[in-house]
Amino acid sequence: MSTKAATFEAEVLSRTPLAAHLVRLVLGGSGLAGFTSTGIPDEWVGLVVPGQFQSRYYTVRAWDGERLTLDVVVHDVGLVTEWAAGQCVGDTVTITEPKGSFAMPEGAAWLMLVGDLTALPAIARIAETVEVPTRIWAEVPDDMSTYLPAAEVDWLGQPGDGESRLADVVSDLVWPQGDGYFWMAGESAQMRAIRKHLMRERQLPSTAYDVMGYWRAVAGRQPRAVDPVRQTETGTRP
Ligand SMILES: Cc1cc2nc3c(=O)[nH]c(=O)nc-3n(C[C@H](O)[C@H](O)[C@H](O)COP(=O)(O)OP(=O)(O)OC[C@H]3O[C@@H](n4cnc5c(N)ncnc54)[C@H](O)[C@@H]3O)c2cc1C
Repeated sequence: MSTKAATFEAEVLSRTPLAAHLVRLVLGGSGLAGFTSTGIPDEWVGLVVPGQFQSRYYTVRAWDGERLTLDVVVHDVGLVTEWAAGQCVGDTVTITEPKGSFAMPEGAAWLMLVGDLTALPAIARIAETVEVPTRIWAEVPDDMSTYLPAAEVDWLGQPGDGESRLADVVSDLVWPQGDGYFWMAGESAQMRAIRKHLMRERQLPSTAYDVMGYWRAVAGRQPRAVDPVRQTETGTRP
């Protein structure tokens, strides 16, 4: 029996800029027949764009049974960035079957969500899904208040030097009383520091948080994507 993950060919039906650094792509077509959502609100797919063999990971912002919505950050340079910045409507892409990680324990009384622009699609979908009181901290370069209007959000501007301050933000958080859940995603080095803080200073059990490196700050093109599955398997995250 093959253990290879299923892949799907999809057509880019539309491309809509949502902000200076975020583009919404809606994928569809008969190649998505058989695609099934996990229902986990931070679920992601691998995306391979035309002319490339390497995949990059993107959150399933929405899946309506026929169309798959991905919100793609357009940063300076990158395989997907450069493709998504151009006129990609009509292109055929390959996506992998979805996987998710968010696992809020039953009985959690509150939820805290923290992340950068790459995490915003997952934060938005999680916030739409859960019913417990939710606080959000988002470090973004543009005004994204229409993207995430309902929840209680602290919008943190992008620091001028481009270096994320999310590790400092998390170490200064005032935590609610009782048991809850903490979910966070962003640049990998910041996420490592935050995991240490949660384990050592806050002494949280691993079931109380989920901290994912979504991308790695390196000069030039990344040799390969930050692998969310390997982060779990190698124990670099809980
Ligand atoms: C589970 C998961 C879910 C994700 N969901 C989303 C999502 O919904 N939307 C989304 O846009 N991204 C998401 N990401 C992050 C995305 O996969 C990475 O940002 C990816 O590196 C982008 O690929 P690229 O081809 O544009 O750039 P790459 O070729 O991978 O990298 C090129 C250069 O750009 C830099 N770089 C990469 N990402 C960023 C960034 N965000 N900001 C600034 N510099 C960057 C790298 O350091 C490198 O120097 C997710 C990642 C994971 C693991």
